[in-house]
Amino acid sequence: MEQTELDTAALIILKQYDGPCPHCGFHLSHPQSNKCSECGAILVLSLSKPFRCTSWLLFAFGFIASIGVCVDQVGLFVAARIINGSPFIWGWILPEVILAIVLFVGLCWWWKVRSWALGLSPTWKWVIGGVGLAMPFFWFVALFTGFYITF
Ligand SMILES: [Zn+2]
Repeated sequence: MEQTELDTAALIILKQYDGPCPHCGFHLSHPQSNKCSECGAILVLSLSKPFRCTSWLLFAFGFIASIGVCVDQVGLFVAARIINGSPFIWGWILPEVILAIVLFVGLCWWWKVRSWALGLSPTWKWVIGGVGLAMPFFWFVALFTGFYITF
């Protein structure tokens, strides 16, 4: 379908619409154009599916939250040294920096294998979702334990 055909089809459907503008809430009664007469917002028809929490999304959350754990740890270690006026110690933040880079690469890889991951069996999806939720806690404990053992 051409763009103009889509616009024409959308306009035919919009002319039957009787309800609030999704942007400003102004009551639109059978609008004659795809523009809200009150706020000027362009009305676009679309088919969309409701949000679904997938195992892929939970695992992606695991990567992102784990990167957040690393950034938080680095921030705390740097702030502690600055507040004390002590010299900066690379050994304290290097594990977090390296892990954050590895996790970012992992997130990029996870993004690329999205369609494969969404096609896995329900059992694997539960495993992946669970691992994704546990990932930030695992990395926090691993980083903290590593710091505690080495310093
Ligand atoms: Zn409006």
